[in-house]
Amino acid sequence: GMASLMQTYARLPVTFSHGEGVYLYDTDGRRYLDGIAGIAVNGLGHAHPAVTAAIREQADKLVHTSNLYRIEKQEQLAEALTSLAGMENCFFGNSGAEANEAAIKLARLYGHGRGVGKPGIVVLEGAFHGRTLATLSATGNRKIQAGFEPLVSGFIRAPRNDAQALQQIAANNPDVVAVLLEPIQGEGGVKPLSAEYLQSVRQICDQQSWLLMLDEVQTGNGRTGSYFAYQGLNLLPDVVTTAKGLGNGVPIGACLARGAAAGVLGAGHHGSTYGGNPLVCATALAVIDTIRNEDLCANALAMGQVIRDTLLNDSAARHIREIRGSGLMLGIALERECGDLVSAGLEAGLLINVTAGDTIRLLPPLVIAEDEARDLASGVATLIRDLCH
Ligand code: PLP
Repeated sequence: GMASLMQTYARLPVTFSHGEGVYLYDTDGRRYLDGIAGIAVNGLGHAHPAVTAAIREQADKLVHTSNLYRIEKQEQLAEALTSLAGMENCFFGNSGAEANEAAIKLARLYGHGRGVGKPGIVVLEGAFHGRTLATLSATGNRKIQAGFEPLVSGFIRAPRNDAQALQQIAANNPDVVAVLLEPIQGEGGVKPLSAEYLQSVRQICDQQSWLLMLDEVQTGNGRTGSYFAYQGLNLLPDVVTTAKGLGNGVPIGACLARGAAAGVLGAGHHGSTYGGNPLVCATALAVIDTIRNEDLCANALAMGQVIRDTLLNDSAARHIREIRGSGLMLGIALERECGDLVSAGLEAGLLINVTAGDTIRLLPPLVIAEDEARDLASGVATLIRDLCH
């Protein structure tokens, strides 16, 4: 039972037995509308036939070989993903944190190649990049770091949306070689970076020969209405990391690179036993195909709008300070703390998340239909009304 697990999660008292589309069913047969999709993982919802078929077919043939050999599905996925991303090559790991570890190592090696002995990476306040030692050091949240010192050094913290502060860092820190940031901070409370700021970051990176590295672990794979969030912002990074929605639940992460960054990692520099194995790559290929075939980027944009409109046309709107985010990555900031809404939602058959104390976070499957999007929004509106009456 639970006691045999390290108590690293405060779990809700529910166990799911199966799912279909945007619905999950618990072990008592009760149905829940999934507004969080495994924290932006199940973009295609639950039990999508294309995903199930890919897993079945691949499992029938070959699950794992080794990166000692060529892997057909890995090469196919790399080709599909880099061409979607406007990148040149990629490395596969098993999670978002590992994708970021690859990017951090790439940036450091890039720095050493330029004669910088202690290369630094600029990261933002409120950032979340993972739970490994390097990625928690890059994370801008003391709660996640506390107790795990000494942290990995070489990260320089900058405020969000402040191009001048970044110029200042450039002037004062000759050892900086890269910037790592989330286009929309997810765990930090659904906080988007402004398009102007991101353009300035791109310019500064060009002037300084820094690598612009985007963490699209949460924002990628259609979530914000374009395949990657930067594609909706007319921006091209040097390095992109992604995970979560790429595998729809099978563990996969990727670090993509172009230009100077694409030539940095060579034989012996990095590795992962499972990374990019036939099973996960066959699955991710099916995910990418389905996102295109079912036009899920466009659906994310349209359904995000339906959710916003439904909320703003409800009397609950007077308790909403603002709705942040893009596509189906939405943060509904209230005028008060609302952590209790998670269990209230569960009782109402609605799976939601609360971040930053006062923000309801919605990350529903990208396959959500219009009536389901309305149900989700009006369910959330009811929760808000009941909390704030
Ligand atoms: N980066 C971002 C932006 C994330 O949202 C997350 C997970 O929430 C991670 C990295 C870490 O990913 P993982 O939990 O797969 O290691």
